[in-house]
Amino acid sequence: MKISQFIIATEQDDNPNTYLLYNTHTTAFVAMEKEKYNKIFIEKNFKEDCVQQLHKMGFLVDDDFDELAALEELRIKGMSDPVQNVTLLTTTECNARCYYCFENGIKQYPMTKKVADATIQYIKKNYPEPQFAINWFGGEPLMNFEIMKYITEELKKAGYDLIAHITTNGSLLTEEMLEYFQKEYSDLSFQITIDEIGEKYGKIKRYVDIDAKDAYKRVINNVCMLLDHHVTTNVRLNFAASKIERAKEIYIQLKKEFEGHDNSSLYIYFAPLTLDSDNEIISDFHGDMEHPFLQAVKTQFSEGFPLYKPRYDGDMGLIGAFGLMPNAFSCGMTTKNRISIDADGTLYKCHRLSGKKEFACGTVFDGISEDNSIYRIFRNTTIEDEECKKCNLLPICQGGCKSQRILYGNKQKCHRIRQIQKELVNLYYKEISKKM
Ligand code: SF4
Ligand code: SF4
Repeated sequence: MKISQFIIATEQDDNPNTYLLYNTHTTAFVAMEKEKYNKIFIEKNFKEDCVQQLHKMGFLVDDDFDELAALEELRIKGMSDPVQNVTLLTTTECNARCYYCFENGIKQYPMTKKVADATIQYIKKNYPEPQFAINWFGGEPLMNFEIMKYITEELKKAGYDLIAHITTNGSLLTEEMLEYFQKEYSDLSFQITIDEIGEKYGKIKRYVDIDAKDAYKRVINNVCMLLDHHVTTNVRLNFAASKIERAKEIYIQLKKEFEGHDNSSLYIYFAPLTLDSDNEIISDFHGDMEHPFLQAVKTQFSEGFPLYKPRYDGDMGLIGAFGLMPNAFSCGMTTKNRISIDADGTLYKCHRLSGKKEFACGTVFDGISEDNSIYRIFRNTTIEDEECKKCNLLPICQGGCKSQRILYGNKQKCHRIRQIQKELVNLYYKEISKKM
């Protein structure tokens, strides 16, 4: 018998005689006396009466059980899922000029009809099932509404039942567009970033076509319009770790803006910016204040939203809501069929790499080249990083975002909950205790 590698173990906040144990692979959870914890998990005395139960829950495993191999099997299975989903950039142009945009510096061009036709052919050839999801992306995707309509109509003619998720700054959305999307897509959701209030919002976005004074109101009104039509709307609040105090104020203000509208369709969440300066790295924060992401999580909870929008009901939903849910892969883009199609038809394994031709892995004209080195990084199911191999969060993180590693090396590789995992387990325990 040996101790599982995948345990978060921590003293209970208000009762240091109790230890909380969460298994990041099996999602099993126990609270036990500290004395018992020490005997089993520190002294490795496996003769205690609850050892069999702990073994069943995955906290203890057989000596010859290879936990890393079991996890790899899960990845192999998960990553072979033939997901019918693409990210589609209708344009790399944008009417905003955010300082933090990862597409800063790339060439700006809209998708032409010729590229759209090749995209449609590429989709028809590679996605045989009738249900198909498009993540509309840009630049600002609504700047090329005509091409969205064209692709939508052609795919529907070809028999697809379409699901759409639209990542937009929200400034160009009109009632007519919304009516069109609701009519054409069997499921529709939006992601809109709002990271300041009033004129300050306008100054961050620096729209070329909207006065800084008017931009905020326009976007808030458009989010309200989505909520009034019961469209799932994710409002993303980007924040720099050092500016967490301001981000919390913005969060609370934003929630007020949407009062009186359908809040069951709304999800506001904090998204730490991947800035390159040392103390802005959220998984490796060394400042004096409480960890910025923990502050964000606490604010989110006290305001009634969980850390992640739960995908499941009940206890599993709660685990997910605290960011403690295991995953079959680091992200959906590692699955075989997920791809991002640039406005010029270039294929990338992730939208974060768009416009950087050195990371391309094919085109809609010629298809994916599967022996391309970037494609292979995404499709590799083996964990090669020695630190990951020993990490208790591996079932949740699965080695982290592949694009992040390609772009920034290992500096920002770790999961955002890495430094706050014990606090999250305590918060999770408090929530389940309320239900007991
Ligand atoms: S940025 Fe990272 S986590 Fe997000 S889709 Fe791309 S590879 Fe996946
Ligand atoms: S990237 Fe970091 S948090 Fe994720 S598994 Fe590897 S060591 Fe753990």
